[in-house]
Amino acid sequence: MSLKGFIQASGFGGKDFSKLLSNSKYPCWMPFYHAVSNEPLAHIKHLYPVKSLELFEQELEFYLKHFTIVSQEDIQKPAKNKPNLFLSFDDGLIEFDTIIAPILHKKGVPATVFLNSAFIDNKDLFFRYKASILASKLSEKGNKDVLIKSIKDLLAIEYSNQHQLDLLAVDMGINFKDYLKEKPIYLGTDQVKFWKNKGFDFGAHSHDHPLYEKLSLQEQLQQTTGCIKSLEASLEFNISSFSFPFTDYGVYPAFFEKLKEAYPNLSTFGTAGLKLDPIPNHFQRLPMDNSLGNVQEFFAKNIQRFHMKRLLGKHIYKR
Ligand SMILES: [Zn+2]
Repeated sequence: MSLKGFIQASGFGGKDFSKLLSNSKYPCWMPFYHAVSNEPLAHIKHLYPVKSLELFEQELEFYLKHFTIVSQEDIQKPAKNKPNLFLSFDDGLIEFDTIIAPILHKKGVPATVFLNSAFIDNKDLFFRYKASILASKLSEKGNKDVLIKSIKDLLAIEYSNQHQLDLLAVDMGINFKDYLKEKPIYLGTDQVKFWKNKGFDFGAHSHDHPLYEKLSLQEQLQQTTGCIKSLEASLEFNISSFSFPFTDYGVYPAFFEKLKEAYPNLSTFGTAGLKLDPIPNHFQRLPMDNSLGNVQEFFAKNIQRFHMKRLLGKHIYKR
C-alpha cells in the first residue's frame, strides 16, 4: 500500500480503523501494563501515570472487539479472522490480584505477569518505587522550589547507588519493610499460585530490576537465570518467559545466545513499542501506561508510526 493510500485509510472511524489494522499486518500486538487502580499509588505516582479502572476496561473492550487475545504459548500462531494480541503486566504488583485478574478471568482473557524474585511476597521493593515513596512523603511538606529540586535528585538515583535511598528513608523516618507490611504492593506466592491454577501465566522480570545496559554480560545472565530458578523453586511450576526490566536496549546478541543455552524454549520480551525483532523468540511490547486518551487513536498513531518506520527500513530492531 502506498503512503498516500495508507494515510487516507488512517482515519480513526470504525471501518477505517479495522482496515488500518488489517493493513498493518503486524504479527502479534503486545500491549503491556503495570498497575490498574483508582487509588493514588505513592510508589508509582512520581514515575508514570497509573491506569484508571475505567480506562483499562475501555481498552479491554477495544482489544476484545478488534483482536483475538492469545496466551503466551500462542503468540507465534498465525492470526485467524482478527489480529492476535498478547496482554502482559510487569513488576508483579498486587493490583493484578485485587483488580485485574478478576476482570480478565470473568471475560476469559489470558495474560502473563512478570515477577521479580527479590520482591515477590513483599520481601523488598524496586529502587524506583522507593524513590517515588520518598518523593511522595517529601511533597507533603516543604518549600515548592526546594521540593522540586529534591524530588528530581531523588528520582535521579540509579540502581548502582540505591543504598542512598535506604539512607534517606532512615532520615525521613520511613522503614520500607514496615511500609510493605502495612501496605503490600507486590503479589505473594499464594496469590500467584491461585491465579496460575485459573490459567494465567507468570514469567520472570529479573531478580531486582536493574537497567541491563549498565550490567556486565555475566550480571545480566545472573539476574535472569537467578530469577527464573528462584521463582521455579518457590512457585513450584516452570517459568517459560522473561520480560526485561526497563528495556532491552544495550543488550547484545551474546546475552540471548547464552540464555538460550540454559533455557532453549524461553520467550523474552522488550518494551520498544511496535517493532519486529530479529532475535528468535524475542518480542517487543507496546507500553500502555502513558496512553491516557482514546485507545483506538493511540493504536492508529502507532500503526502510522510503524508504517513510516517500515518505509524507512527502521521497523526491525538493530543491536
Ligand atoms: Zn518492571
